[in-house]
Amino acid sequence: MTERLYRHDSYLTTFTARVLECLPRDAGNAVVLDRTGFYAAAGGQPCDFGMLGGVPVVDVSERADGAIVHVLGAKRDFAPGDTLTGTIDFRRRFDYMQQHSGQHLLSQALVRTAGAETLSVHFGDEASTIDVDAVALGAEKLAALEVEVNRAVQSDLAVVVREVPEAEVAAYGLRRPPKVTGMVRIVEFEGYDWSACGGTHVRRSGQVGAVALVKSEKRKGGTRLTFLCGNRAIVHHRLLNAQAVMLGELLSVSPLEVLPAFERWREESQAVRTRLSEATELVLDAEAARLRASGRQIGAENWIVATLDGREPDSMRALAKRLVTDAKTVVLLASAGPRTFFCFSRAPDAMSDMSALLRAALARVGAKGGGSASYAQGGGPAATREATEAILAALIPG
Ligand SMILES: [Zn+2]
Repeated sequence: MTERLYRHDSYLTTFTARVLECLPRDAGNAVVLDRTGFYAAAGGQPCDFGMLGGVPVVDVSERADGAIVHVLGAKRDFAPGDTLTGTIDFRRRFDYMQQHSGQHLLSQALVRTAGAETLSVHFGDEASTIDVDAVALGAEKLAALEVEVNRAVQSDLAVVVREVPEAEVAAYGLRRPPKVTGMVRIVEFEGYDWSACGGTHVRRSGQVGAVALVKSEKRKGGTRLTFLCGNRAIVHHRLLNAQAVMLGELLSVSPLEVLPAFERWREESQAVRTRLSEATELVLDAEAARLRASGRQIGAENWIVATLDGREPDSMRALAKRLVTDAKTVVLLASAGPRTFFCFSRAPDAMSDMSALLRAALARVGAKGGGSASYAQGGGPAATREATEAILAALIPG
């Protein structure tokens, strides 16, 4: 079993150790040492990174026999008996110390403010989550929770780590029963929280800096809280603040008044949309009346044929729909411009085949589309008004 130096000193950044085993790996190699300062991924806390013998350490895990395996990012001819120097990436380590210590305080604060037990935790690269058994953690409860956990941070409680025989664990009133047997490592935030934990922690709760709750969501009969500690909370605040300031400038209000200002803006834009769609209906009605007047009797049918400039397909369909309410009417509409669009429709009692007419039109411009005998549409590359007018004219029987 590898001696774990971080268990006694989470702030140890450099150490020397003897190589016990060298294991081949595809991209590099892996070594087992007699002792290590590298934390192996466990209990939801990711492993440390750093350098070992001048080579980057890319993964650290615990083997079933208790040995810690350091996976190296490059091959080196290390041999059992070699002495190597290890250096921990302390930026990453301290970041996870802040998250993990903050989580212990948060779990205790959850018990105190909401009677909620922690079910599981996950420490991620960007944010961490804690799943609890309580539902309905409303805004007020969450605010009280945030106040309580930050009170514990600011009380600057000493962190005391003890190795205790299993039989004596009961005396410590642990928040959750330990998962290990034999000697149990207990992490205490002085007088506040006692947890069985093998992770790396700060020396005093004040070093957590701050705990920010950033999200609360329902999760399998409980709640998942997303939280950020220390520097992560500060960076998050900086990014949010920059956005709020920019939004405030756009809306001409202070950053804290962005939400009501946005609500007003949304109501106004909804009202504008409603008025716009009413006006559009009137324009379409007028346009339909104008096109109706241009209808030509061909056989038993009334044909309305027109090219419109740069029209959206939606608007053409709405126009065609209005026109085919007239008996025995055939409507052939084309839009000329950067994109050609054809919209062919007929009244239920007209007989011409829209699909066949569309195929004939599409063949002339290399466009794609399809439909049925009563309605067909298609579009393609740019065409001039003259070109689409000629295409439509060629479709008129007679
Ligand atoms: Zn822990």
